Amino acid sequence: MARSSRPHRLIVIAGTDTDVGKTWVAARLAEGLRARNVTVSARKPAQSFDQEDALTDADVLAAATGEPVDDVCPPHRWYPTPMAPPMAADALGREPIFLGELLAEVRDGWPGRAPDVGLVELAGGIRSPLGHDGDGLDLILGLAPDLVVLVADAGLGTLNAVRQATEQLLDHPTVVVLNRFDHDTELHRRNLQWLVEREALDPLVDIDSLVGSVLDQMPTYCTGCGRPAGDCPGGCSPELDPPRYCPRCSRRLAVTIVPTGVQARCRDHGPIEDWA
Ligand SMILES: [Mg+2]
Ligand SMILES: [Zn+2]
Ligand SMILES: [Zn+2]
Repeated sequence: MARSSRPHRLIVIAGTDTDVGKTWVAARLAEGLRARNVTVSARKPAQSFDQEDALTDADVLAAATGEPVDDVCPPHRWYPTPMAPPMAADALGREPIFLGELLAEVRDGWPGRAPDVGLVELAGGIRSPLGHDGDGLDLILGLAPDLVVLVADAGLGTLNAVRQATEQLLDHPTVVVLNRFDHDTELHRRNLQWLVEREALDPLVDIDSLVGSVLDQMPTYCTGCGRPAGDCPGGCSPELDPPRYCPRCSRRLAVTIVPTGVQARCRDHGPIEDWA
């Protein structure tokens, strides 16, 4: 089996419930990070779906990360029946699903060169069964992610759903995303205010903020000297000099002359002229 490297930042995309928009949030997060020179892989350990669906979650995630869909969710974990994966497996007469196997498949399925960010999307809500012997929360325990993104709805029922889910996630660094948040809807605004003031949570309500908060937790390097950004005393690169080190990984950049000037390119992170 090819070598697999744990992503530098492992992020689980969990939901307070099914149909809150986990896949949409994960896909937009992946796109937003990739637009900022961050390498992203996404995994869906198991997916059940309606055969009528035009696109499965794995298709949507694969389109967002540019990976083959079978890398996102291995073919033997596709269950074409809209029930929780272990129930779908039973209904289809397939093998039982064991959490240890799902964990091993995720662990062994990353690219050989560690991506900056790995996203793992659960199925259903955090206490929805994922296998015959465990649920989403058990998978989180097994993966020990650096961050859990808890996707919730913004309307009626949000407080109950978020309070219950965050209680389960107390031991894990968690950020709450109120998906489909509408600033013009009073209930949405009041839900947000309640969570901030009464629950001491700091929910995010748009994808740009989520991308920003993930970026904030990633290391960056000085493009002049390659040191961690906080360790650079400054004055390491004459003005107008092209960047020499990748701000994402500190690898030495290949600098080439192009008609419009110079282009600095990292083998893993691509051209970095858009670096801001
Ligand atoms: Mg989904
Ligand atoms: Zn420097
Ligand atoms: Zn790089």
